[in-house]
Amino acid sequence: MTLEFRERRDYLSWGRVERRPQRVARPASRRDLAPLASGGWPRLAVGLLRSYGDSCLATGASLLDLTRLDHLLAFDDETGLLTAEAGVSLGELMRIFVPRGWFPPVTPGTRFVTLGGAVANDVHGKNHEAAGTFGRHVAALTLLRSDVGEVTCSPAENAELFAATIGGLGLTGVITTVTLRMRRIASAYIDAEKLAYGSLDAFFELNAESEARFEHLVAWFDCTAGAANLGRGIFSRGNWSPFGDLEPHRDAGLLQLPVELPSFTINPLSLRLINAVYRANETRALGAHRLHYGPFFHPLDSVRGWSRIYGRAGMYQYQCVLPVPTAAAATHALLAQIAKSGEGSFLAVLKAFGALPSPGLLSFPMPGITLAVDFADHGRKTLALFERLDQVVSEAGGRLYPAKDGRISREMFAEGYPALARFARSVDPACTSDFWERVRP
Ligand SMILES: Cc1cc2nc3c(=O)[nH]c(=O)nc-3n(C[C@H](O)[C@H](O)[C@H](O)COP(=O)(O)OP(=O)(O)OC[C@H]3O[C@@H](n4cnc5c(N)ncnc54)[C@H](O)[C@@H]3O)c2cc1C
Repeated sequence: MTLEFRERRDYLSWGRVERRPQRVARPASRRDLAPLASGGWPRLAVGLLRSYGDSCLATGASLLDLTRLDHLLAFDDETGLLTAEAGVSLGELMRIFVPRGWFPPVTPGTRFVTLGGAVANDVHGKNHEAAGTFGRHVAALTLLRSDVGEVTCSPAENAELFAATIGGLGLTGVITTVTLRMRRIASAYIDAEKLAYGSLDAFFELNAESEARFEHLVAWFDCTAGAANLGRGIFSRGNWSPFGDLEPHRDAGLLQLPVELPSFTINPLSLRLINAVYRANETRALGAHRLHYGPFFHPLDSVRGWSRIYGRAGMYQYQCVLPVPTAAAATHALLAQIAKSGEGSFLAVLKAFGALPSPGLLSFPMPGITLAVDFADHGRKTLALFERLDQVVSEAGGRLYPAKDGRISREMFAEGYPALARFARSVDPACTSDFWERVRP
């Protein structure tokens, strides 16, 4: 019943920008967490560190890596109700449950995400319009707090703490177990369709036309294209197929990027080239295909550690959401700024969020358009561009996604998240993160 801490230099978030040592314990069982209920020392629970910025880092505190708490505790094959420890990954759930005809109700663009991480960022997937955020499918969870010990929360029990914990960035206590409603599937395949489109207006038209007929929608756009081609890209849509086997994905044999590439790998020239190659490849794949869920939902997972491509300086992802009334004009303004800057990367995504309300006080999604673009860290130049983008987002009444952020100001965070003061009342006095130290009211 002890927690052993080690000083680790290899604990980096996905963006690899912050490189400060972290004090980390990796408990083997829930029993090992007993000291948390009495100790007031500063801490943060983390999962697979797939957040890009500093919401999963806590330099002045202790990290609790929960990835060994990965046991399944109960499953009802009639209703799909699953209770599991918070450290199990969505990928592992897919591997176990796809053969039985069940799938997590929402999956982000990577399956290397724990249940605890998916709850604490209230993650969204390509099916946001149909299913809303991950938190909408959480029936209950248990939290271990420094002040009151273990607490069960659900929409009916300790409802305020539940709402604070969904999207609560690990700050309301350590999530130890999660009860989740899984989704039935008839096969492991998606009937998918890819369509090239030529402008931002065309994206909006395609999205509106697809919403009622397709569960999964997303678009990749070429962030180097300006003027009349602004926003051009490839629109991808699909539904779970009734045809095919229930074979899960395989992680064995995935490519691994073992070293950080030199930082000059991503520059305006290589970026233009990569985007052109990507567009050509995707254009060849246009049309209707039956695709396994792996390449459809998680194409980037085929290269482990791909963020090392940005070199030692690391990378940022800028992800914002823009509310419906301002979405079209503000998306246009953001894309124009990005194209003009010559920054950006091959990972540039546009997606609509639907009207289903997010259950968390700090949940990121709201009805509108979300834009996510990766940027190599070119120091002041990159940060200056972000300030210009921030201005557009603020004026549009939008907000940034904490899971991707490592730099937002206290003012912008407070402006984007009106329930922040209410949320702060549910924070566990012992929990903190580098992100929280920057933005806390
Ligand atoms: C390639 C890629 C694609 C992505 N695509 C999407 C996407 O489409 N949609 C989307 O929403 N996100 C997306 N993300 C972001 C990712 O889904 C989130 O950052 C997710 O929360 C990461 O989970 P994790 O287990 O790695 O958690 P970590 O990154 O380790 O932690 C994330 C947060 O959860 C908290 N936390 C983790 N475990 C616990 C626990 N047991 N108790 C309390 N708090 C805890 C941490 O304190 C931290 O605040 C993507 C990330 C990558 C790398």
